[in-house]
Amino acid sequence: MKTRQCFSCGAREGMRHFEGRGETLSVKGMERRVNDLAGWECQQCGEVEWDENTDSAERYTEAGDDLVIAARQMIGAEMKRIRRKLHLTQKETVQLLSGGGHNALSRYERGELLPPKALVLLMRLLDRYPYMLADIQTLAEGADLRGFKHIVHKEHESLSVS
Ligand SMILES: [Zn+2]
Repeated sequence: MKTRQCFSCGAREGMRHFEGRGETLSVKGMERRVNDLAGWECQQCGEVEWDENTDSAERYTEAGDDLVIAARQMIGAEMKRIRRKLHLTQKETVQLLSGGGHNALSRYERGELLPPKALVLLMRLLDRYPYMLADIQTLAEGADLRGFKHIVHKEHESLSVS
């Protein structure tokens, strides 16, 4: 068996060579299988180094990136489904729930951007309790501070001339 010192924990002959290994990556319940991986794994600390003369690192990274994109698209589709269930347009959703620019929401729904966690949680709450939308509409009226103006009271000074 091929062994060598671990570059991470320093264990002598800690790293053992492997090949033909399959691994399953998983993000939010979605999985990607990567087969025929080759590299070194430390028996002491678990550190893995892919073989440089194979495409293992490339394929492993690609599968990870692919999963992240798939997760963003899954959340985007979920946001869109809930918005439609609530009979809200994108514009109404921005005004009522997310604030910010109009562009962001459509990018969330297309899976190009990961929405803020608070917005995802709010949408999921509304998915579970749609009647709360009426409460949100009432609360939103008093919460919008964009039209907030300073009101300056100017006292009228009466000049008395003696
Ligand atoms: Zn190690």
